[in-house]
Amino acid sequence: MTGTEGSSPGGRPGRARPAAAPRRRLVSHLSVVVPFYNEEDNVPELHRRLTGVLNGRGIPHVLYFVNDGSRDGTLERLRALASSDRRVRVLSFSRNFGHQMSISAGLAHADGDAVVVMDADLQDPPELIPDLLERWAEGYDVVCAVRRKRKEGPLKRAAYALFYRVLRRISNVEMPLDSGDFSLLDARVVGLLRAFPERNRFVRGLRSWVGFRQTELAYERMPRRAGEPKYRVRHLLKLALDGFFAFSTVPLQLSTWLGFLAAGLGFLYLVYALASRFLYQNPAGWTSLAAIILFLGGTQLILLGVLGEYVGRIYEEVKQRPLYIVDEAIGFPEGEHGAVARLGGEGP
Ligand code: UDP
Ligand code: MG
Repeated sequence: MTGTEGSSPGGRPGRARPAAAPRRRLVSHLSVVVPFYNEEDNVPELHRRLTGVLNGRGIPHVLYFVNDGSRDGTLERLRALASSDRRVRVLSFSRNFGHQMSISAGLAHADGDAVVVMDADLQDPPELIPDLLERWAEGYDVVCAVRRKRKEGPLKRAAYALFYRVLRRISNVEMPLDSGDFSLLDARVVGLLRAFPERNRFVRGLRSWVGFRQTELAYERMPRRAGEPKYRVRHLLKLALDGFFAFSTVPLQLSTWLGFLAAGLGFLYLVYALASRFLYQNPAGWTSLAAIILFLGGTQLILLGVLGEYVGRIYEEVKQRPLYIVDEAIGFPEGEHGAVARLGGEGP
């Protein structure tokens, strides 16, 4: 954990090759973290496929299912699972805290040598877990599953492509393109993520930020098995903005660049206006003035908004509220995970 390991030149924590002779690791215990928000129809199938794969390969495991304030029968189904399978542990939030918080809660309690994070809707096939684990055994600490092809509509696809590429450009971490939260994290990465104090938890950014040996694994992203996608455009936009503002200060520098640009253009225009004033005696028009004022006014408002995004995030951080509130913890052995035993708010 010296900070040199796994980082590429230039200080950018990139995806470096593993050491020349990678050590092979054996998993003695794997945790799987899954967030659930109104996924009642996916609960039994997900559990069936997960345990099918993990038991089939003889991988010792514990499943951490986080109920993110579902309004349907998700919690009841999870409760039933926990009573029939002692390897299922359920954390149920007091309300909906969002996808990234559910993952954070799962990571806060997950143990074992490695942790897999995946969605509940079976878009992330559990059958990929042995492959993820294989890369981990080869010595990688973060294995991100990367979508080979998206099954969403062309508009959504274009938006995602744009988002990941812009984010990569303006942030100082190298996040894999087209990766969601589906990934496998080594225990030490999980330990580090857990200790991150920030509220704005863009997990896929943070896991790249930590560095170490990172790799990608391509897979075919399935269509959602049942239920509605929870991410409406508004949420996606929020997630995208969180990604931008949490990992880059480039938007803040925008005003400097635009300021220079406007000042430069203004100067050129001044030269032109003066020349035409003295050469042709015609006064500069009202229309151009109005245009300039509107342009500058608009730009200033936009940049105020950008500033506001950062100030708002600083405000959220300084309030130091708990990240989420656990209402119920089901299936946790007595005495284990003191944090859940207490229940209530949990900080980072
Ligand atoms: N999810 C959650 N809380 C939310 C929204 C979503 O825990 O507020 C979960 C959801 O149940 C699913 C995962 O996050 O397991 C991804 O959600 P979704 O499938 O809607 O996102 P998409 O696949 O469209 O990106
Ligand atoms: Mg989905």
